[in-house]
Amino acid sequence: MQRISVPEADRLIGVKHPVLSHGFVVLVDYMGNDGAIVQAARVSYGQGTKSVRDDRGLIRYLMRHHHTTPFEMVEYKFLVRLPIYVARQMVRHRTVSLNEYSARYSVVPDEYEVPAPEEVRHQSTRNRQGRGDVLAPELVERFRADLDRISRDAYAAYTQALDSGVARETARLVLPVAFYTQWYWKINLHNLFHFLSLRLDPHAQEEIRLYAAELAKLARVVCPVAFEAFEEFQIQGLRLSGREQRAVRALLDGKTPAEACAASGLALTREDGRPLSTGEGVEFLEKLERIRTLE
Ligand SMILES: Cc1cc2nc3c(=O)[nH]c(=O)nc-3n(C[C@H](O)[C@H](O)[C@H](O)COP(=O)(O)OP(=O)(O)OC[C@H]3O[C@@H](n4cnc5c(N)ncnc54)[C@H](O)[C@@H]3O)c2cc1C
Repeated sequence: MQRISVPEADRLIGVKHPVLSHGFVVLVDYMGNDGAIVQAARVSYGQGTKSVRDDRGLIRYLMRHHHTTPFEMVEYKFLVRLPIYVARQMVRHRTVSLNEYSARYSVVPDEYEVPAPEEVRHQSTRNRQGRGDVLAPELVERFRADLDRISRDAYAAYTQALDSGVARETARLVLPVAFYTQWYWKINLHNLFHFLSLRLDPHAQEEIRLYAAELAKLARVVCPVAFEAFEEFQIQGLRLSGREQRAVRALLDGKTPAEACAASGLALTREDGRPLSTGEGVEFLEKLERIRTLE
């Protein structure tokens, strides 16, 4: 029996793909491919299905019906270098095996993230966790200069502490979350899809989205058909609640979106009549807009 290999993916192994100013993603190894997903599924469905569904059709069926275990047959090992504030978000994904650079054992390199000017923006008024409108250039530059100065001072304090004999595990306390760390990150395809559905989403912070996009780009080379199905059913797919389905029925009956929302209990205004900027009604209109502007 031959080990499964994907020549395009083999050529990517060990290649650094830059993310942010000092970060990168490297595909270290992988196991399986689209064929491994199909092979695992056929164990449960039997050879008989082969004539009815081709491989692409079978993978799309598995994705549509949340038959997830065949996707677990594919594994990826990545090396990721990322700022600590992004690592804190990424580490929340518990179905990953990871091993991080030890700042107790090794000296932290003098590398920290200063966001590009266009990434330093106003607090969003709609999303309490996000950034929104453009900020005045002088405010952007003041923030970036402060971050740069504080990071340089912190690193100077760190090296001074190391030079004076303070243990590495203690000296690192002075380093802010803009500094970089790195880790091996091993995940199966099912869990990677879950991670990507959360971290490619526009609600996720821009920086982790950049890492997610790079991971997806590399992982897709191993399993292009599974990724196509993932994008179609999970990324582009829309879920409709019971109220939203009633609103769609009202639209089909010729009602306007506002009337459809009112008829199905999806609020668009507060009690005093002022428009809401968030909530189920607003999100329903966003879904309609996504459909309307579909390419
Ligand atoms: C836009 C965004 C904003 C966020 N904001 C915050 C925030 O403000 N504060 C914050 O603390 N976190 C925040 N998070 C992190 C979020 O709450 C999750 O911890 C993170 O997205 C990992 O999701 P997960 O648990 O589904 O994934 P994983 O940890 O990879 O788990 C995958 C799945 O395994 C199952 N699972 C794993 N462990 C358990 C368990 N112990 N019990 C039950 N089921 C389990 C669940 O079904 C889970 O969906 C945010 C995430 C996103 C995407």
